[in-house]
Amino acid sequence: MSDASPAWGAALRAWYRRHRRPLPWRGIRDPYPIWVSEVMAQQTRIATVQPYYAAFLRRFPSLRSLARAKRDQVLAAWSGLGYYRRARHLHDAARLVVREHSGRIPDDPEAFGRLPGVGRYTTGAVLSIVFDRPLPVLDGNVARVLSRLHALRASIRDPRGARRLWTLAGTLVPMRNPGDWNQALMELGATVCTPSGPDCAACPVRKWCRALATGRVGAFPPVVARRAVEKVRRAVVLIERRGRVLMVRRSGPLLDGLWEPPGVELRDGQVAGPALQRELRRLGLSAIIQPTGRTVKHTITHRAIAVEVWRGSATGRLRGPGLWCDARDGSHPLTALGRRLLMRAQ
Ligand code: SF4
Repeated sequence: MSDASPAWGAALRAWYRRHRRPLPWRGIRDPYPIWVSEVMAQQTRIATVQPYYAAFLRRFPSLRSLARAKRDQVLAAWSGLGYYRRARHLHDAARLVVREHSGRIPDDPEAFGRLPGVGRYTTGAVLSIVFDRPLPVLDGNVARVLSRLHALRASIRDPRGARRLWTLAGTLVPMRNPGDWNQALMELGATVCTPSGPDCAACPVRKWCRALATGRVGAFPPVVARRAVEKVRRAVVLIERRGRVLMVRRSGPLLDGLWEPPGVELRDGQVAGPALQRELRRLGLSAIIQPTGRTVKHTITHRAIAVEVWRGSATGRLRGPGLWCDARDGSHPLTALGRRLLMRAQ
């Protein structure tokens, strides 16, 4: 941290005061909504986050109301936003704060950082914005700005690069208004110093930018190979009864606890019909099913999923939990795919 901003600090702050977007969580000093906004904004576009943020706070206006909620209610409010582990962690963390901190979100970085799902980024963001703790943040936007400004060959995507960038961010963060400082860096990266086609002519810190001065903006940050996208085939079946569609619970690390039509992942060359029939028998159902001829493309983190859609009717008694949903039913935590299929089915 630093008592004196770098030379470009005043220009950045002045720009931020004039040009920051009027986001619903700006200017708030209550740690709970700031925490919610920071968790939602991870890996998700701000335009997507805004309606979810407003609806989530209407549904759970305080940390205590979130802590009291059932898991399904929290997942339902998160439904469609993706990365559901964030919602489970936030829910667990709210319960822990009520149990161990009398419902007060701790302003101590160690205590806050021990809460489920809270890493260095969230700690820096929430505690600097709300409690004026001079802690740095480093997300993709800040990393890009710092890498270009300092012509630093370091990427947040590789551990060594991330360590160098965290160290640099830590030396820059000021004692006064560290929250504004962090938000200004993030805002610059989100709106001006964008990944491709940065608007250097409109940039408040262009005079100090080493990448621009040497004509090498495109070289920073260095490109690090992304995790390869895995192509996956899946088949789901819409079992209909009196205008409603059957949903069963998914399990596994990404979608655990969310609801979706019964389905199976298909191995190379595997035919969907028999695999779906096996899955339905496992669920206790005897069904007549047929392909719709539709394939829905769906992406979750690094998986590009092609989903073959079948439909049919079934008899028998469902083994395990199931839901019969229609498109108006917003109270259950469906996967994004489940909601999409339900909307189209009806
Ligand atoms: Fe980014 Fe261009 Fe500004 Fe440098 S001058 S920080 S490359 S927008």
